[in-house]
Amino acid sequence: MDIPRIFNITESAHRIHNPFTPEKLATLGTALRLERGSRVLDLGCGSGEMLCTWARDHGIIGTGVDLSLLFIEQAKLRAEELGVANQVKFIHGDATGYVADEKVDVAACVGATWIGGGVAGTIELLAQSLRPGGIILIGEPYWGKLPPTEDVAKGCLANSISDFLMLPGLLASFGRIGYDVVEMVLADEDSWDRYEAAKWLTMRRWLEANPEDELAKDVRAQLTLEPVRYATYTREYLGWGVFALMKRGDEGKTHA
Ligand code: SAH
Repeated sequence: MDIPRIFNITESAHRIHNPFTPEKLATLGTALRLERGSRVLDLGCGSGEMLCTWARDHGIIGTGVDLSLLFIEQAKLRAEELGVANQVKFIHGDATGYVADEKVDVAACVGATWIGGGVAGTIELLAQSLRPGGIILIGEPYWGKLPPTEDVAKGCLANSISDFLMLPGLLASFGRIGYDVVEMVLADEDSWDRYEAAKWLTMRRWLEANPEDELAKDVRAQLTLEPVRYATYTREYLGWGVFALMKRGDEGKTHA
């Protein structure tokens, strides 16, 4: 089992499969005040950049699960490269329903909340692996500007305007299901460009190397259309952020 091959092509050169730069990922790690030896679970970990760099910079112990074999292989190589292979473990597989054997301090799903059937379901899933008083991390899009029409939402590759909330609405939604938002780091236009524009050169290079591939036509069409589509819609309307959540009512249960 694997993700659709098109993503393994367009994002093969990405270390971070989200509109975050290495700097923003580092800002998030620092913002969370991670302690050495903290356990972090990451569902839909992609190429493992969050766990590998936080293992290097903060001494965390991590487990990542991802459905892309390519990304998992890249994550293992990255762990070797950063000298943290003894701190992080990467599992190739479906993260749907994945619960850790040992409770973790931080349970994350950064940009893959379909794994739990949406934000609320993913929080519920992550909570099953979390120690009392632990932190849940959710990476999720929101409307930076509300699309005036459904066509504009579709231009952002959403199914409909109702797919996402605006930032205040998203923050309020966490409260309604019983969570405090205790930190957040947001994408900006430059970090969006690092995610989206980086795909274009990857596609161009891939086309040069694989002109006869069965996906060559699709990749060619995407490369032709993507820059203008992205600049017209996604870059203009879509926000993205990682939100740190702690369950309300857990205040007395933080670790000793
Ligand atoms: N959190 C990573 C990757 C985000 S992209 C980062 O920020 O870099 C979404 C990821 O979800 C991709 O790596 C994709 O392979 C993975 N994915 C999609 N469906 C999945 C599933 N059912 N189980 C596990 N991973 C999945």
